[in-house]
Amino acid sequence: MRELNRSLVLDVVKHASPISRAAIAKETHLAKPTVSAIVDELLAGGLVREIGVGATTHEGGRPPILLEFNTRFEFSVGVHVGVHVTHVVVADARGEALIQREMRTPGGSAAEALARVAEIVGQSLTTAKAPRRRLAGIGVCVPGLVDPEAGVCLLAPNLGWRDVPVADLLAEAMGGGVAVHVHNTAQACAVAETLEGAAKGSKDAVLLYAGTGVGAGIIIDERLYPGSAGIAGEVGHFRVQGVDTRCSCGKVGCLETVVSVPAVVAAARAAGVGGDKLTLETVVAAADAGDAAARQVLTDAGHRLGTAASWLVNLLNPDVLVIGGALAEAGDLVLDPLRQAVAEDALPQAVSRLSIRPWMLGQDAKVRGAVLVAMQKSETFVRLIFGADRRT
Ligand SMILES: [Zn+2]
Repeated sequence: MRELNRSLVLDVVKHASPISRAAIAKETHLAKPTVSAIVDELLAGGLVREIGVGATTHEGGRPPILLEFNTRFEFSVGVHVGVHVTHVVVADARGEALIQREMRTPGGSAAEALARVAEIVGQSLTTAKAPRRRLAGIGVCVPGLVDPEAGVCLLAPNLGWRDVPVADLLAEAMGGGVAVHVHNTAQACAVAETLEGAAKGSKDAVLLYAGTGVGAGIIIDERLYPGSAGIAGEVGHFRVQGVDTRCSCGKVGCLETVVSVPAVVAAARAAGVGGDKLTLETVVAAADAGDAAARQVLTDAGHRLGTAASWLVNLLNPDVLVIGGALAEAGDLVLDPLRQAVAEDALPQAVSRLSIRPWMLGQDAKVRGAVLVAMQKSETFVRLIFGADRRT
């Protein structure tokens, strides 16, 4: 109860600063002494500060002392290591992005690449005037199989990474003393889209990601479900009947070998869709212009994704299924056949409350998810709100 009241008060201060103690009591329906006690704790912890005196209330009396959320209480960093581009974001305690950096994903060994990332993070923190001791943590999103508990990237073929201890390497390159949380693309996107995007307010959501890789991020009862080794949701490696292409995971006939962006582009080329430098964008443009072969390739991809989605829907019964990745950006050319396949293949009872939506944050969902994970895992913040030893 105490914890709940504390986060209730903090939430009001966060979103309605500057605000007086009396206004907080009114807003939260808590008794004034309760609010005052909580505010004193938050002041002592540094989450909230007093910023002077407000206008006298119309009832007369002493003008109230106004409070505001201390947005510089702590900072979180999000890193998205993409196949081509790496993004770094420094956010304040409210999650507001202060610095956003974009660079080519560094080459060389994983250790060298992460050392370069650490350098950029360090520079970004300096630019944001964020002291290291106020760094809550770093969230990292990588395209591959990740064990989040160990902070290890098990396999990221497009980066050439296998069993890379990302959390340890990055923490070490930062000089130690920093918590690093690692997730894969679909998981990071699922967190971001559930908290701030297409699945906002949903308790049970699934994000199906179809880009260079294919995978799903699963949210159960508002929490990311990574499975025992972080592999939950790896639908890209569902076996597809009649397909014998070797997958980057080492197995044969994986879904990813037929519906990823490279697979769709290859299928379009094989179907005679024109252009020297065929990309997903040019395939979509050709389909939009009425090219039947291009249209068919995208329909097939949407249908296959929809079949995989129908398994997820029957398995997890989400209320929102978010489709992310470059294929989601192809729009209805992919989403219509996907929706149709889900409607045909999933149980009607499983889709009765289901809404299928494209992602809302787009490619930003990756680095945003990394930031949000770091914020959620902030030990200081959690201790101040929920811990007994809040004054330490
Ligand atoms: Zn595979």
